[in-house]
Amino acid sequence: MKTKTIALAVAAALLGVSGQALAQADSVLAPKAEKAPDRWTIIHAATLMADAGKPVAKDASIIVKNDRIEAVRPGFVGAEAIGNGVTAANVAIVELRDKFVMAGLIDAHVHVGAGDLTAALRNAREKVMGGATTVRDAGGTPEIIFPLRDAINKGLVVGPRILASGAPITTTGGHGDFRNGNFQASLQPPAFSSGVCDGDGECAKVTRRQIQLGADQIKIIDTAGVVDDSYTGLDQQFTDAELHAIVDAAHLMKRKVMAHAIGAEGIKAAVRAGVDSIEHGNYLDDEGAKLMKAHGTYLVPTLEAPTDVLRRVRNPKPGDRPISENTRMKVLGMPEAQPDGIGRQVKVALRNGVTLAVGTDFGGTPGDEMVLMVRQGGMSSAAALRAVTLTNAELLGISAKAGTIEPGKSADIVAFDGNPIDQIEASTRVVYVMSQGHQFKAPGFQLP
Ligand SMILES: [Zn+2]
Repeated sequence: MKTKTIALAVAAALLGVSGQALAQADSVLAPKAEKAPDRWTIIHAATLMADAGKPVAKDASIIVKNDRIEAVRPGFVGAEAIGNGVTAANVAIVELRDKFVMAGLIDAHVHVGAGDLTAALRNAREKVMGGATTVRDAGGTPEIIFPLRDAINKGLVVGPRILASGAPITTTGGHGDFRNGNFQASLQPPAFSSGVCDGDGECAKVTRRQIQLGADQIKIIDTAGVVDDSYTGLDQQFTDAELHAIVDAAHLMKRKVMAHAIGAEGIKAAVRAGVDSIEHGNYLDDEGAKLMKAHGTYLVPTLEAPTDVLRRVRNPKPGDRPISENTRMKVLGMPEAQPDGIGRQVKVALRNGVTLAVGTDFGGTPGDEMVLMVRQGGMSSAAALRAVTLTNAELLGISAKAGTIEPGKSADIVAFDGNPIDQIEASTRVVYVMSQGHQFKAPGFQLP
């Protein structure tokens, strides 16, 4: 090596090449660094639900190679099942012989990147530790969410796979305009990365800008909202023409559209404009549900959001974010404030055959949300488990790599203490998480 370097230095001196070029030439001539050895994991599952649409298996092994599922085998196998000279020393065995194992949960509505960077890092970690191996971010700061998504995918940061929307697309003064209701802030023009727009042309432009910045899907603030302090009702804010301009701009560039929609008429306007999912849908009526069914629009009911805001209104605790009188009135007027009101839109969706997806919004885990969808909304546990894996993967457009445990798919695997088909509450007792082949939670294992 040394003689070669000296010889190259002499040659370089003769040819007049720089030291940097010399270093590059040397590395080209040096033997290639050894490829990192494959990482093998075998997970022994007492109960395995590889596909939530099919019966479970008892005593099964999942073989994981790096970030992919290599095979699923009956019984508890060891390294010899891999073959190709792979020995026990090269394989990590995970014993979940008394646990329920299934594909990683997908959360179709979160806001990981809505605060500052520290909060985003903490949120990402909390989401994945709660069993969500993929999340669809429903709007936040582009400068935070896009690099965070990329850093997680490179394995540099603890968190789930993120499908990011970037900034939500909203009208000036709308629910997603963060200057809304704040006179001082409203004197500031929207930032370059903002999704605030008015008029078809401008709305198409800000939609395309989010795609340019890296949006995986587009989030529209179709109607007013509950927790912002504005006196703008709870219904449609964009004109029909603006809604169509946004949806068309997104769909032409192969991005799906998720629409924040609270009021009954705003829900229908978004569905008619062609959005792919209605988020929240609090005031959904039978007419709106029939329209959703006809258009194949998904409903992501986010029941944790009204549960949390109602609790903050009725039983405020020290440390809660303050609630304005205006928001308090909006909350107490909602269908959710009625006895057994939480989950009302789930019942409307179920009786009209609307496809339900699972999303948590600002807090909680997919397990917490499924408990509400089952206990309050009347879904069966099995249907909720299909929704959080198969339906959510379909809605997010990632069925080819997530939603089931089968060879070739991403190694996204979770385990629970207890069987969530018998009792959905078991889905909140997450004891194992592997996301994109990275093990973040396991019995006897603690992340630093
Ligand atoms: Zn949200």
